[in-house]
Amino acid sequence: MLLCKKIKLEVSDQDAATLELMQSKCRGLYNWWVMCLRNGEKWPGVYEAKKTLQASKQHDPELELAYGKLLHEVYYRLDHAMAAFFRRVATGEKPGFPRVRPRHCFFTLCYPAMYLKIEGNVLILPTGGKGKNKRFPTMAARLTETPPAGFREVAISRDARGNYYASFSYREQEEEQQSGQVVGFDLGIKTLATGVNEQRRVYHIGGFKGAKWYNKQLDKIRSKRAKCQKKSRRYIRLSKVYKRVSEKKRKKQRDSLHKASHLIAHQLVERTVVIGDLSQRQMVMQEHGERNKYLNRAVYNDWGLSSFVEMLVYKCVRYGKELVFLDESNTSKACSGCGHLQAMPLYKRTYICTACGLVMDRDENSAVNILQRYLAGLRPHTGDPVRCADVFTATEYV
Ligand SMILES: [Zn+2]
Repeated sequence: MLLCKKIKLEVSDQDAATLELMQSKCRGLYNWWVMCLRNGEKWPGVYEAKKTLQASKQHDPELELAYGKLLHEVYYRLDHAMAAFFRRVATGEKPGFPRVRPRHCFFTLCYPAMYLKIEGNVLILPTGGKGKNKRFPTMAARLTETPPAGFREVAISRDARGNYYASFSYREQEEEQQSGQVVGFDLGIKTLATGVNEQRRVYHIGGFKGAKWYNKQLDKIRSKRAKCQKKSRRYIRLSKVYKRVSEKKRKKQRDSLHKASHLIAHQLVERTVVIGDLSQRQMVMQEHGERNKYLNRAVYNDWGLSSFVEMLVYKCVRYGKELVFLDESNTSKACSGCGHLQAMPLYKRTYICTACGLVMDRDENSAVNILQRYLAGLRPHTGDPVRCADVFTATEYV
């Protein structure tokens, strides 16, 4: 399967300026084409479009400064965007015509692997021009980690705080699927995932705990900033602090999700993982969310369940596990002992059955229900077990 490793780069100020210039030139070319297409011009396809590069260079000689392969990549990306547009039109979705890329965003630069060299931990990035036309020297960026072997493409990107990253896409052999035990998981807010296996062994996997603390800090900074004059020195400084703190929060959160999904997909011996289908979950959340502002914030900002499921999907493929999505309606309302149904508002953390007297943790109860529903085989299919990596695109979102 195709995987992607994102590594932070250390670049000198001069190289950073070169990168900025090259990305602005690539974006200019991209945007010019998007505007032409918006005005009704026909997309001629990659090969025909590439031939117009010479004419474009005549129009804007500065394009010469950007590395040629990066400019070629622009045409492939346009082609990709147009293909996606036509596919959406064909399937009757919202068409979403390719958009002009804004100036404050970094236009990701894609280098094919054969034009790059790695010397030790230094990544050599070529620039445009030859001989006396080469205004910017070839860049050397220090990698902070070792890149994967046999990578095929490298994308250079920048985040909002001005750090540069290189994303290496590479192929990794998937492990064979084997049959084995089953574990059912219930995903929740209090604990990220609660699982039960066939021997009734319970797994509690807690998620990121610091969200509340970070939210408080962020609120404080924001309210301080609101009292400053816009664009003043203090305002700008607080904005920077805000960005730094929220980045830290985001990274910790993501890290905890990666660790939890890795635990499920790699450490556990069970070969089949059953989780509830999240697509119906949203409605329930909305209903609860209106009553509880804090919970609402937890659901929409700090929870990240959908990205957790995404991680679980690709990690299960990677480690050869079967992941099954199950209809989870009533799994939290039903008693796992006798099947009795009772209302379970979110604040009730313990399931106390009024019919048979069963007392159980709320999440454990629903995990047992999910497992039982899967084992009983009366699963109304909401999706096939995920087998291929088409859900995971490596370089598209870097
Ligand atoms: Zn009961």
